[in-house]
Order: sequence, then structure tokens, then C-alpha cells
Amino acid sequence: MKREVVTCVKCLMDSTDPDIHFNSGGICNYCLEAEETLPKYRYTDEQIGANIGRLLQHIKANRKGKYDCLIGISGGVDSSYVAHLAYKWKLTPLVVHFDNGWNSELAVSNINKILDKTGFDLQTYVIDWEEFKDLQRSFIKASVVDIEMLTDHAIVASMYRLAKENNIKCILSGTNYATEHGLPSAWVWQKVDLKNIQHIHKLFGRQPLKTFPTIGIYKSFLYKILHKLDFLEPLNIINYKKLEAMEVLEKEYGWRYYGGKHYESWFTKFYQAYILPQKFNIDKRKSHLSALIRNEEITLEQAREELAKPLYTVEDLTQEKEFILKKLEFTPEEFEEIMQAAPKRHDEYETSIHLRKKLSSLKEKFNF
Ligand SMILES: [Zn+2]
Repeated sequence: MKREVVTCVKCLMDSTDPDIHFNSGGICNYCLEAEETLPKYRYTDEQIGANIGRLLQHIKANRKGKYDCLIGISGGVDSSYVAHLAYKWKLTPLVVHFDNGWNSELAVSNINKILDKTGFDLQTYVIDWEEFKDLQRSFIKASVVDIEMLTDHAIVASMYRLAKENNIKCILSGTNYATEHGLPSAWVWQKVDLKNIQHIHKLFGRQPLKTFPTIGIYKSFLYKILHKLDFLEPLNIINYKKLEAMEVLEKEYGWRYYGGKHYESWFTKFYQAYILPQKFNIDKRKSHLSALIRNEEITLEQAREELAKPLYTVEDLTQEKEFILKKLEFTPEEFEEIMQAAPKRHDEYETSIHLRKKLSSLKEKFNF
């Protein structure tokens, strides 16, 4: 018997998320948590001014070399807007773009537009495609949910390395509570779980990893403590609104929107619009749109309309699927078989998540 799907009365989240729960009024735990937390990220104009002042003072006090901070840019809204803020605040960042072989032309053009106007220095990190392909193939074959953790892991690892090489102490990140909160933990895995990546690759990979940028849990703690590297989140101090940010970027840079969240990459689009819904029964739009409802950017009605739109047009799916399978060297039959295989949890493979939890609690206890 198929279980009935229960949906929150205030957002789009529903019981396809195994960890969701509802109060007696039918409101989900994500809405309730956001109701408590969002006000902490809302400031008066005066407070915003003071927040920015403190942030800039911190960045300037920690400047050691040519650059005062590092910004990773994907061409998407959040990271582009961080670059915009750095320009407005007259910072001198080193901008890093990570090329994993899947960038859409639009992402590249967005980055170029921003760099043209800001004049910021750009360093593009191009990953070894054969190795990265082998990793993505391994994760797809392993039937784990968070295939994108590979890119996120490599981005974090290369940012740490670049920061160290250029003697930069501050990394400005696009992470923000307002538009990113409420992502179910069953949909993602810890980005720094190198052990998980290595084990899955050992089981399913075809070639050794030689250059893939990695960072284990110990190393990430050491970087933070010994190199005194700070991850700063400017979007968390300015009443960030995604739709307003997009307007600013369009107006001031000729930046263009690329459709769904994180569709600046061909693979991310295919992953979010095909692999996740088809194999894992996950539609990430539910979480993204729900965050925008709670951040008072769109109404529940508008979100429902957006969700009702198809993830792919039949034509796009046929074309893009063919392109992606070819690039990843999967035959259609082989890929179909993987899509039919039961999903597996990341911790059915080796993991260092317990170590991370231990270190985090130590960090909290001793405040280092
Ligand atoms: Zn809700």
C-alpha cells in the first residue's frame, strides 16, 4: 500500500523527507525552526551598518599580502552577489573559480561579466577531468545521494590551499541561512568526509587519484587553527534576499539567471532534475522554494506554481541525458540499471563522520 504524502500547511516540504515531523497545526519542523532562527538574521539598517563595519575591520586587520580575502565564484546568485559586495566594500579579493568540467556557458559568461566590471583577479582551478569523471562514476554506481559532495569537497580543499599559498586569512563564502535553511539531512552528506569519498572510489573507481584536491577532517581543523583561516558569511549580516540580489546583479553587471538553483552546471541540473527525483524521490525545489517562502520572498501560492512546472522538458532531457551519459562513459543500459538499483546510505560505506562530531564537540568545549 502506498503511504499518503503529508505536506506542511506553510511550505512545500512533505513526508517524502524521512525526518520531517509536523506539529498539531500541520506545520513542519523546518518552518518551526526557521520561525525561531530567522529573526536572528534580521537586522535594522543601523545594525547592518555596524555588522559590515565589524566585518571589514576584521578583514583588513588580517590582511597579510596582496589580497585581503578569497572568494569562490560559481556564476550562481549567492557567490556572484558576494563578489558584488566585495566590490561595493572596496575589498581586494582573489576570486577563484572551480572548473569541474560541467560549467554551462551561462555560468562562465556571468563570471566574466562580474570580473570585467570589478577588475578582480581570477584564478581558475581546472580539475583533472579523467579523475573527476572516475569519482562521479563511482558515486553514481555506489547509489549514494550526495554526488555533489565531490565538487563541494574539492572546492573547499582548493580554497584552503589557495588561501594558504597566497597568505589569505579570510574566505568570503556565499553560505547563508535566509535562503539555504531547512535542507533535510537525508538529502546531503558531510562535504569533508574524505574517508567516504576514498572508500567509494576504492570500490567503484577505475584509476588512482593523483591530483584531486582533498582535505580530511584533521587537516581542515589544522588549517582553521594553525593557519587561522576564517570563513566569513557576509550574506548572513545584511538581510539577504535572493530575488533582490538577482535584480542587482542583472542591473549592474548584465548577469543572467540560469533557471533552477545551482543549474549553472550541466551535471548539477541533471542531478537535481533527474537523478534525485527519479532515483531518490527527492525534489530539491521543495526545500529551496520553502526557504524563500519563509524568507518572505515568495508566497506559498507562487511556490506551488513553480513546483508544478516540469523539471525538464522532454526535449531537453533527451538531449542533456545523452550528452551527460556520453561524457561520463555510461551506456544507456548501464545507467538505467544503476537508476533502478536501491539507494544506499553514505554510512553503508566507510565514513569519518563520527570523528568530525567528536572534534566539533571538543572545539566547542575548549573554544578553539
Ligand atoms: Zn513547513
